Formats: sequence, C-alpha cells, structure tokens
Amino acid sequence: MVQLFCDSCDKEIRKPSRGVNYISLLGYDLCLPCRDDLTRQTGKAMHKKEAYQLKAYNGVYEQTLRRMCK
Ligand SMILES: [Zn+2]
Repeated sequence: MVQLFCDSCDKEIRKPSRGVNYISLLGYDLCLPCRDDLTRQTGKAMHKKEAYQLKAYNGVYEQTLRRMCK
C-alpha cells in the first residue's frame, strides 16, 4: 500500500483517497485540516487587501500553500 504524507504537517494520511481525506494542489498533497488552514490563512491575508479579486485570491492561495509546504 502507498504511504502518503501531508506536505504541510508531515503526518501520514491513512488510506489516502484523493478528495476524501486529502487533496492535491500544485504538486503538494494536503490533509484536510491543513487544507482548512490554508483556506483560513488565505482568507486572512485577503482581508488586508483592498479589492477582493479572484486573481489576487489565487495568488495569495498559492503563496500560502508554498509557505506551508516548504
Ligand atoms: Zn497536514
């Protein structure tokens, strides 16, 4: 069986099933708690910006993801 580890918290994802207990983003695998954390952190970062734009959101989302997974 394949072993899969979250790229952010390094915890093992048991019985990995994409979209069920982990997600794949830009080559990273994230467990759901980290995915929620990513969404929350992205939302927080967006509050500092004046205009809420989808393009800006995606940029912040990606930056946050890369920071969490380094
Ligand atoms: Zn994780």
